[in-house]
Amino acid sequence: MPYSEDRSAWFEGQGLWQHVDESDWKDWAWQLKNRITKLEDLERYMTLTPDERAGVLFAGHKLAMAITPYFFNLIDRNNPNCPIRLQMIPRAGEGMLHAEEMLDSLGEDEHSPVPGLVHRYPDRVLFLVTDRCASYCRYCTRSRLVSNAQDYNFHPEYEQGLRYIEAHPEIRDVLLSGGDPLLLSDRKLDHLLGRLRAIKHVEFIRIGSRIPVFLPQRITPELCEILKKHGPIWMSIHVNHPKEATAELKTACERLSFAGVPLGNQSVLLKGVNDDADVMQALVHRLLRMRVRPYYLYQMDLITGGAHFKVDVRKGLEIIQALRGHTTGYAVPQYVIDAPGGGGKVPINPNYIETITDDEVVFKNYEGRTFRYPLTATPVAAGEQEKPVKLHEELHG
Ligand SMILES: *Cc1c(COP(=O)(O)O)cnc(C)c1O
Ligand code: SF4
Repeated sequence: MPYSEDRSAWFEGQGLWQHVDESDWKDWAWQLKNRITKLEDLERYMTLTPDERAGVLFAGHKLAMAITPYFFNLIDRNNPNCPIRLQMIPRAGEGMLHAEEMLDSLGEDEHSPVPGLVHRYPDRVLFLVTDRCASYCRYCTRSRLVSNAQDYNFHPEYEQGLRYIEAHPEIRDVLLSGGDPLLLSDRKLDHLLGRLRAIKHVEFIRIGSRIPVFLPQRITPELCEILKKHGPIWMSIHVNHPKEATAELKTACERLSFAGVPLGNQSVLLKGVNDDADVMQALVHRLLRMRVRPYYLYQMDLITGGAHFKVDVRKGLEIIQALRGHTTGYAVPQYVIDAPGGGGKVPINPNYIETITDDEVVFKNYEGRTFRYPLTATPVAAGEQEKPVKLHEELHG
């Protein structure tokens, strides 16, 4: 098996952090305090390529670099193409702008009635509660505000957001995101979830978080108690490659599941990371074994300095086609493009329909065989009418 289930980042990291007590290693505050954020730290642990070195020097102007020791341990330091490395270590491409790219590619700011609250769809809002993450993904959609490297001056203001939600009875679904909401303290999270639960018309609360992946130590029994208390709280985690699906992540997912938190996964299609049907299949199978249902596969947004991650949409379709029918239906995520400029998420699907008329739809199955489904209801001749009755009698007496 290329990605064995029991690989643990602790085991892989003995070489680098063997001086650290296991109790420190398992403490999320220790992990955060010891994140790799500077070029000197990084170069102490690994040899960067010239492309990466230039990227790290530029990162401070775009999106800060930060990597938890736990997640850093998953990097193959001998392989510049390691899928974890590509996601975490900046490269020179981040400084290269292209005409199609935008700072706010989803037009989120235009759809924000109050700072940090995006109200794009009729019945739900995206509530950005922090600009911090445990580690920073180099392709982040919200690079403009996350980590505040671009002086965007985003200061989450919960009170304004909560008041807006309270005043809008059409909002039945609140998605907490950021940044990463699970970086808030237990106390703050408890308060925020309590306030949302107290709003009668809010019937669905969910959290988008990459903390279980970057910092599984944060999924403590105390945190799970809070999520349980305010439940049902749904959660979308963010895993892109099977290497991220460690024993630690599995434990974190189990704790969340057992606290009654249904788990979904969002992946971003990234060049060199997961633009491959076998990698994606390994990932989705791994996720199901961790009680996580693949939810969305995103075409990457048109963020500034993101072109080196861009994958052809036809490749994405090919991956979905390689999954659908060939494996468990639960394992297949919905491939979407979040429409540039702010049109919302649009499903992008392989085309199984060959023709569709008033009479019939002609379509292909997963093997490429053609089938027909008639849309008509043609009466049969009088003498033939008894056939179904007879057949029924034969079968059921
Ligand atoms: C993604 C998103 C949502 C949630 O969309 P679902 O398809 O319901 O998961 C809501 N608001 C905004 C602005 C979003 O970007
Ligand atoms: S965890 Fe999410 S919000 Fe944070 S850097 Fe990664 S993609 Fe961006």
